[in-house]
Amino acid sequence: MSQICKRCLYDDTVPGISFDSEGVCNYCGVHDEMNREYPTGESGRRRLLEIAEKIKRDGKGKKYDCIIGVSGGCDSSYLLHIAKKELGLRPLAVHFDNTWNSKTAVENIDIVLKKLDIDLWTYVMDNDEWNDLAKSMLKASVPEIDALTDIALTTTLYMAADKFKIKYILNGHSFRTEGITPSNWFYFDGKYIESIHRQFGTRKMIRFPNLNLSKWMVWLIKDIKRLRPLYYVDYRKDEVKKMLSETYGWKWYGGHHLENRYCAYNHYLLNTKFKRDLRMVEYSAMIRSGYMTREEGTREVSKVQEYPGELVSEVKKRLGLSDPEYETIISSPPKTPQDYKTYKPTFKMMRPFFWVMYRTNRIPKSFYIKYCF
Ligand SMILES: [Zn+2]
Repeated sequence: MSQICKRCLYDDTVPGISFDSEGVCNYCGVHDEMNREYPTGESGRRRLLEIAEKIKRDGKGKKYDCIIGVSGGCDSSYLLHIAKKELGLRPLAVHFDNTWNSKTAVENIDIVLKKLDIDLWTYVMDNDEWNDLAKSMLKASVPEIDALTDIALTTTLYMAADKFKIKYILNGHSFRTEGITPSNWFYFDGKYIESIHRQFGTRKMIRFPNLNLSKWMVWLIKDIKRLRPLYYVDYRKDEVKKMLSETYGWKWYGGHHLENRYCAYNHYLLNTKFKRDLRMVEYSAMIRSGYMTREEGTREVSKVQEYPGELVSEVKKRLGLSDPEYETIISSPPKTPQDYKTYKPTFKMMRPFFWVMYRTNRIPKSFYIKYCF
């Protein structure tokens, strides 16, 4: 009989899980710890205003005082709203275009930025090079195929910060709605992508903004900080979506992370080939935050996950994969980052350095915990 956490939806199949004497899992424990470290309500509000004051002071005389990565999704659109309307910041919006955006996402970015009068800086990927990288990730048989977007976005944000001499990068992540991914579920770094691409790619990596360690170190030493303001906000997504559509004409695209076709396909692949249901992570977070009851979460997660029917054929067509080629990829045994070269041993060795980076807000705490041990 399998054990399920008394509070969230995680069960004993989740890697790295343990239960206390009350039957509550350690991931719930991490949530509570973060909840204390990043409070909402009055004290959260105060902390947020203090952060905003510091950003304004440091950005005096500059055209922009912070950078916000945008995807057209709910989180980043909400962050733009908070930054400009509630905190009075002067953000520059930055977008990494992997060329797989949905029409809704593009329209959302456009409409929100226009209404808030925020400038946009975009880095557009070369389509053929992206497809070559994407194919490499698929052939490598690893779950982290969308690490490409995450890494490229991170690099793009740093590039913009460096170019416009901006000290702060704001990120729309919220542990209260997105949750804490089980350990070992996802790993990615620049070396991981490079080693996979070297093995399976057919073109040179030219336009892809990979994050190699030496480049990253320069930006860290330049004291470019990465902050997560939504950590201090009671983030009720349904209300926020309603506010965004009423205020800006923003549109919901029908599912978390479905604003981008490649990202949507990643979800599909995780669900089918790797048997990982990201809804469990998300709903567990919302249950811990009191945004959803455990019963509602259990009911929602038991529903069959639906994907746009044409998603797989679109991926095959765009990546130039024949049916047999695609079948070989899907049926090949899953691999993990341990099967490829990564920076993990280096990150571990550099743990004291990254501790300082975490303590000075230059990297998120989650990076320090996940990558340096
Ligand atoms: Zn739990």
